[in-house]
Amino acid sequence: MKEVLLLKDGELSLKGQNRSTFEDILVKNCKRRLSHLGKFTFTKSQSTITVEPMMDEAIDWDEAVKIIGKVFGIVGYSRAAICEKDLNTICKTAQAYLSDTLSDAKTFKVEAKRSDKKFPYGSPEICREVGGYLLSKNRGLKVNVHQPQLTVTVEIRDRYAFIHGNQIKGAGGMPVGTNGKGMLLISGGIDSPVAGWMMAKRGIALSAVHFASPPYTSKRAEMKVHELLSKVAEYSGRIKLYTVCFTDIQEAIRDHCPEDTFTLVMRRHMMRIASVLAQKDGAAALITGESVGQVASQTIYALGCTDQAASLPIFRPCIGMDKTEIIDISRKIHTFETSIQPYEDCCTIFTPKHPKTKPTPELLDKVESVMDWSELLKQAVETAKEEWITQEESI
Ligand code: ATP
Ligand code: MG
Repeated sequence: MKEVLLLKDGELSLKGQNRSTFEDILVKNCKRRLSHLGKFTFTKSQSTITVEPMMDEAIDWDEAVKIIGKVFGIVGYSRAAICEKDLNTICKTAQAYLSDTLSDAKTFKVEAKRSDKKFPYGSPEICREVGGYLLSKNRGLKVNVHQPQLTVTVEIRDRYAFIHGNQIKGAGGMPVGTNGKGMLLISGGIDSPVAGWMMAKRGIALSAVHFASPPYTSKRAEMKVHELLSKVAEYSGRIKLYTVCFTDIQEAIRDHCPEDTFTLVMRRHMMRIASVLAQKDGAAALITGESVGQVASQTIYALGCTDQAASLPIFRPCIGMDKTEIIDISRKIHTFETSIQPYEDCCTIFTPKHPKTKPTPELLDKVESVMDWSELLKQAVETAKEEWITQEESI
């Protein structure tokens, strides 16, 4: 049986004149993600995009549905059967295509959409005919027009009729790339992959920067970051990762700054380096997994000091979330199991016993003024390793 996918783009309808640009980006994103499964045509009409295979080749629809479920900008989608626009054929196709679902459901209704106004039957007649046929074939099934378990939709289009069951919930959000690019500071912990996912959901394409301090941090820790980003990339599309060698800077902090400011000075240098790399990469904001009050470097005062060192806005989508809420998302996007693997992060070396929780920017400016950091910062930017992370990668 020939099939198609019908995609509903939700929030896009709010975008007035920009709508077609948004839809074009959504189609481009879907096309790229599905490209390894075959060639498809994409047709836009009203708020539905129809995805139809170009050749008569067999498509791995289960895989296609899995991929489409992770594309931001789609609120719902249906896998539908295509058949001739003949009422008898429509009835038989509906029964054959939805037989399992029909036998599981207790209640149902039929909905008809008729975009081909030349079709000789009106919507009420289509519903009556198809509904009657399905009732005759499925013992125990009852009609419930208000709260049916199953809604069978029949769409009469120009060339064919489409038949599908309940719409599946999509990933929501906005198509990645419709809201510019942001640079994610990714550690290897639970929060930063979630933060990246949340901003990608709002249509922001991602680059990423990871600070590594070999030999204090290991190659395995870097591989962990790769694996986390590859999971995020299933939603955001491919991500350019910059790996910065942070060892010299961390050792200089250890040697020249008071212990209770180590983490804060480190964080401010991260922001400085990330700001330069972001601008070089065309990203207009930094993204972190910080949440207010979670650790000493995330008090309201510490975050203020961190902000001051960045030359771009910092997006912190987890800022008001509890750890349990962040974990819920990390489980949903399958980053949790990787995040909890125990590898050293540069934040966990040289950690002060009693970190300052009420720092001021003036204090940190003074602490940092003991030496000229510019050469070290420049070197860190210039030696950053660049690589693309795609969704296939795994540890
Ligand atoms: P996470 O689960 O994201 O690691 P966390 O609770 O461990 O968060 P911190 O280690 O204080 O918090 O880090 C706060 C944020 O700083 C992280 O969410 C991340 O955005 C950034 N960050 C921390 N370490 C690194 C690193 N090695 N490279 C890049 N960014 C980092
Ligand atoms: Mg961390």
